[in-house]
Amino acid sequence: MERTFLMIKPDGVRRGLVGEIVARFERKGLKLIALDLVHASRETVEAHYGVHREKPFFAGVVGFILSGPVVTTVWEGDEVIAISRKLMGATKPTEANPGTIRGDYSNSVEQNLIHGSDSVENAASEIALWYPNLV
Ligand code: UDP
Ligand code: MG
Repeated sequence: MERTFLMIKPDGVRRGLVGEIVARFERKGLKLIALDLVHASRETVEAHYGVHREKPFFAGVVGFILSGPVVTTVWEGDEVIAISRKLMGATKPTEANPGTIRGDYSNSVEQNLIHGSDSVENAASEIALWYPNLV
């Protein structure tokens, strides 16, 4: 059974889309095993986006995630990583299909509502970072 880390970004919380976004994963049949509203620390967010440290958008995305509370979640299910990435939609607004979360509700490459782990390895390290006590 696979696990993934999904985070509703500050734009999703500010816009009142938490219920809508969580509901999509629930209706898909994925199992919610952790959920919290948190104001993350800079240290955690910089570690979370550590793979992007050298990218030009690194400082911007870290500052954006720190701009308000986020909703962190962990989900479980067969192929949950690939399935949740599909439901999220592509990173770029021009590529996110209608019917996906980003495709339906975002027109920004930065303020794109949701983060989702993209591999088994990254899911494990992100879950360990945000939920060190989750068994
Ligand atoms: N991002 C950005 N500008 C870019 C690319 C990415 O601000 O040109 C932000 C955006 O919020 C994205 C995050 O950095 O969700 C991480 O980028 P990644 O390529 O990992 O996209 P994701 O996995 O979130 O689809
Ligand atoms: Mg990513």
